[in-house]
Amino acid sequence: MDNCIFCKIANGEIPSATLYEDEEFRVILDLGPASKGHALILPKVHAADIYELPEETAGKAMILAKHMAEKMKDALHCDGFNIVQNNGEIAGQTVFHFHMHLIPRYKGDQVGLTWTPGKLSDKDRDEILEKLGR
Ligand code: 5GP
Ligand code: ZN
Repeated sequence: MDNCIFCKIANGEIPSATLYEDEEFRVILDLGPASKGHALILPKVHAADIYELPEETAGKAMILAKHMAEKMKDALHCDGFNIVQNNGEIAGQTVFHFHMHLIPRYKGDQVGLTWTPGKLSDKDRDEILEKLGR
């Protein structure tokens, strides 16, 4: 993808603060961090979102997220850890090259990733189960 900023960063055409790199992925510090250490896992091959992402890459990305979470917990002494992955504008995606957010959490931080829980109605439950063929 010629015009994709994360393709350029992942493949080293644009420099970035890189925490990890292998043949398929680069992990970089986010330029607009939600917390100290906020990082992004970028696959080197372009996929816009989770729907386009090859299964094999998806599996490897999750394993890498686990390894990074362990490493960052030890190094940064964070108290918790969020892994966030947005798909589509309505879900907050702003860069349309698949990425996973690694967000270290610290007691008292102001990171807002919460929502107000609703209540699962019988109607919604039945409708969703039916639509998903259950
Ligand atoms: P999204 O909203 O698509 O899930 O996340 C995009 C993330 O990429 C944001 O957290 C934003 O701060 C980060 N970001 C956008 N452009 C750049 C960039 O050029 N370099 C880095 N390191 N992060 C970026
Ligand atoms: Zn891309």
